[in-house]
Amino acid sequence: MKSVQSLVAPIRPDVAGTDAPLQIVVVGAGYVGLVTAGCLAHLGHRVITVDADLARIDDLAYGRMPFHESGLEAMVVEQTRLGRLSFSADLGAALTSAELLFIAVGTPPAADGGISTEAVDAVASQLAGMPRLPALIVMKSTVPVGTSSRIENLLASRPGIGTGNGGGGGGGSDTPRIASNPEFLREGTAVEDFLAPDRIVAGFDGDPHHPAVMLLRRVYQPLLSAGTTWLQMDTRSAELSKFAANAMLATRVSFINEIASLAEVSGADIARVCEGIGSDRRIGNTFIDPGLGYGGSCLPKDVSALRYLARQHHLRADILTATERVNSRQRSWPVHAIARWTGNMAQSKGSRIAIWGLAFKPGTDDMRDAPALPLIERLRRMGMSLSIYDPAAMDNARALLTDPRGIRFCDSAEQALEEAELLLLVTEWDEFREFPPEVAADHLSQRMVFDGRNALDPVAWSQAGLQLVQVGRPVSPPVRSERKRVNER
Ligand code: NAD
Repeated sequence: MKSVQSLVAPIRPDVAGTDAPLQIVVVGAGYVGLVTAGCLAHLGHRVITVDADLARIDDLAYGRMPFHESGLEAMVVEQTRLGRLSFSADLGAALTSAELLFIAVGTPPAADGGISTEAVDAVASQLAGMPRLPALIVMKSTVPVGTSSRIENLLASRPGIGTGNGGGGGGGSDTPRIASNPEFLREGTAVEDFLAPDRIVAGFDGDPHHPAVMLLRRVYQPLLSAGTTWLQMDTRSAELSKFAANAMLATRVSFINEIASLAEVSGADIARVCEGIGSDRRIGNTFIDPGLGYGGSCLPKDVSALRYLARQHHLRADILTATERVNSRQRSWPVHAIARWTGNMAQSKGSRIAIWGLAFKPGTDDMRDAPALPLIERLRRMGMSLSIYDPAAMDNARALLTDPRGIRFCDSAEQALEEAELLLLVTEWDEFREFPPEVAADHLSQRMVFDGRNALDPVAWSQAGLQLVQVGRPVSPPVRSERKRVNER
């Protein structure tokens, strides 16, 4: 990760006027809320982070992080030490001198395929009961189209408010304005993404020069001064932009995975195909990496939410439906590949498989909708014994895999290889890319590696005497090796 200081210069605290630091409350200390709070403090603002989870607030006050995110801990500790970042469970007290408030609570998938706004609504009703509200409320959570406007109306119509100034120029207000400011950060590089974003989307209904908009611009002034693009639009377009961005990314992932299947059956190499198409500037080379499909807390949920929106309006969302279908099929790639290359999966019953990588992507410990989870369940149901390892997600894995039968939780990549016949790479951590293939060859009795992320170097791994099977790539036979395995010595 680039150094935080190299990304953007903070506001100088002594500057007055449009550059002056603001008093901000961030509600929600999850992946997005904590990154937002830490980065806003880094920009020079005074930030209080509020969360309903008292244990989490307690931990944060003592510098204990609730999850792993590259570069975040150092930033949070530093900003807390400087007195610009603090933590509280008391929203009312935090609001005393707040000029604006960010809502960054979770919006998990709902049972009907849509999105649950339960936590956002809980914050809104708490706010509705407050005697004093900040002039601007910023919706960072990913919410269904129309939610920001609904909450603005709810707060405007709450009983007992006075005439209200609604001015939004700072200080308190009876009738706060709402801006939709969706977050596009990626877990694993969240701090970098927040401080050097491709753009800032600012949704606001009404006068585009309203003082509330100016207030939001002040929040991001250091980023705007560094050249970040500011995209202002109405709140519904901002909300839909967030879903559309994730759906587009998910569709690219499924598209390239479908092409990878075609490469596999036609003897082409998807790595070469990606070069062939990625060098076209109209296409570009990001998000065309074949693998085990997308996962995590955002892409699957946001694709599903758009399909739900289409259903509500009696529209078909054929592309999104296909995107989901291809993604769920792709998650089975290891099972089919193992069956194909080991001859028959049934013969492998009782085999021990080493699994490298559990988080839904490298750089995070997040296992929400991670491809590793259904895969582990499936392999276990097939009678496999599994040795699993992830550099960051072992605690989450232990909490999620409550039935540990058939699973050995390992402390290192090498330990996972002990007594294993096959290796399956699920998450492309650098630690795995850099792992010496000779050591893997020493351990794996079937000398087979299934690389579900095309992360390993085919030349080095086959020269070590291993057969490397990758997604959409020709399988290179192992170069003969006289090395003896650990259990043969
Ligand atoms: P999260 O589950 O990690 O964190 C949510 C936090 O909100 C938790 O700490 C929870 O205790 C707190 N919370 C819930 N109800 C609360 C309440 N009533 N008052 C105070 N705190 C409350 O969620 P996240 O991953 O940070 O996602 C937050 C939002 O940002 C979601 O809408 C998500 O879709 C969106 N988003 C997430 C990402 C990502 O990569 N995680 C990226 C972009 C956008």
